[in-house]
Amino acid sequence: MAKRDYYEVLGVAKTASGDEIKKAYRKLAMKHHPDRNPDDKTAEDKFKEANEAYEVLSDEDKRAAYDRHGHAGVDPSMGAGGFGAGGASFSDIFGDVFGDIFGGAGGRGGQRSNRGSDLRYTLELDLEEAVRGTTVQIRVPKLSTCEVCEGSGAKKGTFPETCRTCAGVGQVRMQQGFFSVAQTCPTCRGRGKTIKDPCNACHGQGRVEKAKTLEVKIPAGVDSGDRIRLAGEGEAGPNGGPSGDLYVQVAVRPHKIFERDGADLYCEVPISFTDAALGGELEVPTLDGRVKLKIPEGTQTGKLFRLRGKGVAPVRGGGQGDLLCRIAIETPVNLSKRQKELLREFQQDMDGEDGKHSPRKSSWFESVMNLFGEKE
Ligand SMILES: [Zn+2]
Ligand SMILES: [Zn+2]
Repeated sequence: MAKRDYYEVLGVAKTASGDEIKKAYRKLAMKHHPDRNPDDKTAEDKFKEANEAYEVLSDEDKRAAYDRHGHAGVDPSMGAGGFGAGGASFSDIFGDVFGDIFGGAGGRGGQRSNRGSDLRYTLELDLEEAVRGTTVQIRVPKLSTCEVCEGSGAKKGTFPETCRTCAGVGQVRMQQGFFSVAQTCPTCRGRGKTIKDPCNACHGQGRVEKAKTLEVKIPAGVDSGDRIRLAGEGEAGPNGGPSGDLYVQVAVRPHKIFERDGADLYCEVPISFTDAALGGELEVPTLDGRVKLKIPEGTQTGKLFRLRGKGVAPVRGGGQGDLLCRIAIETPVNLSKRQKELLREFQQDMDGEDGKHSPRKSSWFESVMNLFGEKE
């Protein structure tokens, strides 16, 4: 096959500057890189072609020779041959062209981790379930090892072969002068093995999508954000590698009555102003049923009553917390004529005795008067 013109390959003019050539090459290299186009022979060829063109055109001497004599002017043995570009410039290009794809200049060698991905599953629980613990069944869609080929990816009766390009190492090295650049093997894409006859069930992936039902024991005292790790229940590893883990992350649904803060529970208890004024015994809820709570006469709104040991025993220990009941005094509504009369009578009886019956109100009024420099 006749070689295409190098300028044509990179899509630049014969007068293109070094920068323009570099830019054009980067674009092509990104587009056709084998890691982005697995099993695409055309892309691989294009990648090689662009590498070769760039190697010549980025070198002043080689470019001059090429301009004068065409392909005959450049020594083909200088092109590192086979896959990958040579050229001392490859290392610096490798850094800034591929760095953003692979997260670090050449940081990823050919040896990829064979372990499957970890999975996360968000499990919603009611407060009661989280506090007491429970056992739940969850259904997790995940990649599991293909049963037909037992994860090898090769058709039954056949086996993956050691990659001939890299001899099973997963990477190839390019030597250029003092530089040696390691690169993921383009043939096996780092796996070290190639599959001639792929398994029909998993198309050579060694893994299939499958939902699995798991029983998860939730210990008592868990809270939102807690994670339970199920070792080996994550995704199966590629090529029969070990599975990742499954993390079940707890999310506790808001409760109608209780609010949790660590080991303590809070609950708001609305009471009438007469109960608050006269005091008495209330019934308040706990997670284990109702209990009686005595409130003294003259209880104010916002007052917290602590019920020891009626909170939560956190899963990490630290002892049982308390239940804190916050009193909220409710102003009576929908009063009858008679009730209003009684309240007015009550009001008149209290008249002029604010300091005695409403200490907070009278001290507040005093502060307001001081603020405006008024005197009673
Ligand atoms: Zn299979
Ligand atoms: Zn290989």
